[in-house]
Amino acid sequence: PEPIIRVRQLKHIYQAGSQPKVALDEVSLEIARGSCTAIIGVTGSGKSTLIQHFNGLLFPSAGEVIVDGVKVIARGVDLRLLRQRVGMLFQFPEMQLFEKTLFDDVAFGPRRMKLPSAEIEVRVNTALESVGLAPQRYAKRSPFELSGGQRRRAALAGVLAMQPTVLILDEPTVGLDAEARTEFYTYLREASLERGITIILVSHDMTEVAALADNLLVLHQGRLVAQGTPRTIFAQADQLIGWGLAPPPLHELFVLLRQQGVPLPVDVYSLEEA
Ligand code: ADP
Repeated sequence: PEPIIRVRQLKHIYQAGSQPKVALDEVSLEIARGSCTAIIGVTGSGKSTLIQHFNGLLFPSAGEVIVDGVKVIARGVDLRLLRQRVGMLFQFPEMQLFEKTLFDDVAFGPRRMKLPSAEIEVRVNTALESVGLAPQRYAKRSPFELSGGQRRRAALAGVLAMQPTVLILDEPTVGLDAEARTEFYTYLREASLERGITIILVSHDMTEVAALADNLLVLHQGRLVAQGTPRTIFAQADQLIGWGLAPPPLHELFVLLRQQGVPLPVDVYSLEEA
């Protein structure tokens, strides 16, 4: 099958002051439709530069990025449509909740799409349901009455209501406690599996990526230095350390997987221990 994202020889240069900065170079990759791909690498390795090419927030200095058959270029592409298809949840997304009720917050995107109000209502209620915020109970509440974990999931509902084909999450659980993290990922996984959404995750938490992703992309100094299943990537401990990363402790991984209590979608590299 056609990959949903194809990147060829991507180069990105920031023109900051007099000194151009090459943030990505010679990056070629493919992301399979319906997969969960995690992008890992130390701070400054190019992760956020890369993901911003997937919904037209940045454009290649050289090379190309093709999303769902459409080449991402500055002109001649419907960027609104692209950004509907490729939803992005930034860090601390609950900062973007500002309406009086949760319903209005989740409805914000669909309303901008000028959908009929009946359709908006169905989308909002479905999205709230799928992140564990039953609409009968939560739709009329103020986002400010919710817990941190609930607000984060409300922000996720706002993206799901746009019905994206691809969902990009940048450090989605930073600042949440262990329980709220597990909940967030459980709802995310169910919602994406149900809808066949391709997930692209940027995370510093190696335990999370090992538990969630079926494909890892490792960036180091703007280059793609490795890709593969968590099993193959985390087996290369020496190389990982050279890139400033480390395989997750097995006991943490098992605890997380057990908490999630869902069938493992991934090639967990450590199952031989079981
Ligand atoms: P990561 O997300 O992995 O932390 P980034 O994509 O943010 O990495 O950054 C990659 C490189 O590009 C870093 O060296 C960073 O300093 C540089 N960079 C990022 N954004 C800008 C910018 N707006 N102007 C100049 N340099 C930038």
